[in-house]
Amino acid sequence: MLGDEILEQLKNEVTQYEYETYISQMKYDAEASKSDLAVFYVPNLFLVSWVQTKYASKIAHLFEARTHIEPEIKICVKTQQKDVKTQQNEKIQKISVTKTFLNPSYTFESFVIGESNKFAFSIAQAVAQHQASKYNPVLIYGGTGLGKTHLLNAIGNQASQEGKNIIYVTAEQFLNDYTNHLNMKTMDRFREKYRKCDYLLIDDIQFFGGKDRTQDEFFHTFNELHNNQKQIVMTSDKHPRKIEGLEDRLRSRFEWGISADIIPPEIETKIAIVKQKCSINSIIIDEETINFIASNISNVRQIEGVLIKLNAQASIMGQQINLKMAKNAIKDNIKENHENITLDKIINQVARVLNIKPSEIKSKSRTKNVANARRYVIYLARLLTPNSMPVLAKELNMKDHSAISKAYKKMEQEMEESFTLKAVIEDIRNKIEEEQEDKPF
Ligand code: ADP
Ligand code: MG
Repeated sequence: MLGDEILEQLKNEVTQYEYETYISQMKYDAEASKSDLAVFYVPNLFLVSWVQTKYASKIAHLFEARTHIEPEIKICVKTQQKDVKTQQNEKIQKISVTKTFLNPSYTFESFVIGESNKFAFSIAQAVAQHQASKYNPVLIYGGTGLGKTHLLNAIGNQASQEGKNIIYVTAEQFLNDYTNHLNMKTMDRFREKYRKCDYLLIDDIQFFGGKDRTQDEFFHTFNELHNNQKQIVMTSDKHPRKIEGLEDRLRSRFEWGISADIIPPEIETKIAIVKQKCSINSIIIDEETINFIASNISNVRQIEGVLIKLNAQASIMGQQINLKMAKNAIKDNIKENHENITLDKIINQVARVLNIKPSEIKSKSRTKNVANARRYVIYLARLLTPNSMPVLAKELNMKDHSAISKAYKKMEQEMEESFTLKAVIEDIRNKIEEEQEDKPF
């Protein structure tokens, strides 16, 4: 069956880990599928959301490459009931997914509002209601796992209910789509698709940095939509000013409208998020354990990962989630995440965020930016790798271990005093940990 072949083909498109963890759980339903509709089953709701966000559009493109029709992708849950009688009547819960590949569970209602995200939330809601109002374009930026993609989808979900024509793509998909159409000599179709929508929702535009041809195409798309009073909403993991290799003409256009940043949530918001995720997924956890999870994780994506893991463990062991399990889950999570982190990975990520060359960090340069970068690296290396202080001193070309120790202590103190610095370090750490393996925790 074509669907099975496509799943097989995905082996070459994703990491082995992703294939084994997610793709291998997908089953193609040939009977329910048609030329413009491909139906897949997965075993639980978490996977619906994950597969939808990460792979649906990739799968659609693989179909399109074979059949020249880009099908709608439906991901459904197939639940197995415990007693024999209902097992025979497998309950199939269908979740309809539109061709725009929006994630239907990312809505305004399912978004927990707190100090850290309320400005971004209210702007998102405003644009969902009044297309091309005074905010155009809108840019939502901030660290990973803090809800940017969720808000972008929420705008799309609400506006599409009102009959608006939505395109939701990541900047990477925009680039792939562009190259495919260019190769197939179907640029007319590409332009028609992107320039005829009411809302263009484009995720992770930092990806455009350094991709000149795609930026050029996006520039024209942007102008056309803006001139026709169509709404453009973008997200980025950093402010456009800090995106390396972004053309000035695009950067200045991004500043025409309004931008809103999201910062890591404060403890009250995290507690509310944990409670909300538990209630949506029927997970029962006591207050003490909720507080523990909320105070030890800052990234919402990782909170979700730990909850998935705890939920699975609790059901296998036939007992309720407790504090000890949560402590172990968080410890394992950290350990697994850290296994392959090397000093070079830390250096590269810090260099990327501070816009300097990795080699400068290892040099003797004393400029402020490089000195800061070096201190960030020292702090993160002590936290995430087993390297000893003498080893770090040697690798970073510093005098001796006491220079490392001094730098580390100074960082600790500064982070205590500056919330912004703490957020910057937290974000770099998230990025390093995410780089490890593309998995939800
Ligand atoms: P980003 O795009 O900023 O990296 P996402 O939007 O993908 O982050 O969010 C990661 C996960 O955390 C998603 O599953 C999202 O639903 C959830 N999440 C983030 N912020 C919130 C929030 N304020 N309320 C509810 N869920 C959230
Ligand atoms: Mg995102």
